[in-house]
Amino acid sequence: MYSYYNENTILYVNGEYKKATAATTDLYGQSLHYGYAVFEGIRAYKTADGTVKIFKAKEHFDRFKRSCELIHMPYPFDNDELVAACYKVLEMNNMEEAYIRPLAFCPPNMTLKAASETHVLICAWEWGAYLGEKLLRVMTSSYQRPNPKAFKIESKTAGLYVNSILASQEAKENGYDEALLLDINGFVAEGPGANLFFEKDGKIFTPPPGNILPGITRATVIELCHELGIPLEEKLFTVEELKTADCVFYCGTAAEVVGWDSLDGQGFAKPWASSLGKLLQQAYKARVLEKEFDRAAVTVA
Ligand code: PMP
Repeated sequence: MYSYYNENTILYVNGEYKKATAATTDLYGQSLHYGYAVFEGIRAYKTADGTVKIFKAKEHFDRFKRSCELIHMPYPFDNDELVAACYKVLEMNNMEEAYIRPLAFCPPNMTLKAASETHVLICAWEWGAYLGEKLLRVMTSSYQRPNPKAFKIESKTAGLYVNSILASQEAKENGYDEALLLDINGFVAEGPGANLFFEKDGKIFTPPPGNILPGITRATVIELCHELGIPLEEKLFTVEELKTADCVFYCGTAAEVVGWDSLDGQGFAKPWASSLGKLLQQAYKARVLEKEFDRAAVTVA
């Protein structure tokens, strides 16, 4: 079992810095019983000039706030203070590169009424690329993404992640690395914790917002496509179309940019090494590390 903390780890909870081993929560909490909580996943990097920077901290905390508002959790927090708390947690734990996890959760309440109070926790741990560095063998899941008419799917609500757990588990049990989930209409949506892009004939495609979590990494990849002059289109597409792609990749804060080996056992037309996916993977890494990215130094066939 991976250890997320030890006896020296410090976390932030409701304005205080505490030892992780001394921090407690109430077992009657509404979040624990009903999955009524909101979280974020953020990364800090040691950038090219040696300083530690939290990548797109503002965007992550804007989404944190919006996620809470969408499900009617009060948000009495100041996002600048929460960002400062993230830096302080990194510093107190001597961390330079880390995954940061803010969590908004609610006090005891066994009713199904919206919370009248919200607590906040920020912890961090060292975490390598979530899906590893190897190309992924992906399986089309038998689970769909949640119906957007049944939930605020743009909210990064904890309870929604049971769907992700079911899909990941199914993929692992069938010998795959990761799952691909479709939307309720059968179009490709996203992974359990990542957005998807594919390359076809020199162009990049990705599903539009509506049935996905609009990821911050997704937005960064779109920015990079614009900057690098790579044509990009948001559109709905099927698994059959995806199987004709030149290359496919997932992206997310935890996973960063990770290429696919195959979908349901079928490979793609281009080797990853010469794909636009690989180019965008390198451009993304340069962006988070605040390094210059020289497209000419990358060979893309
Ligand atoms: N989709 C889902 C379902 C996710 O959980 C995540 C991870 N937060 C993403 C996409 C990617 O989002 P981001 O790039 O903001 O991490």
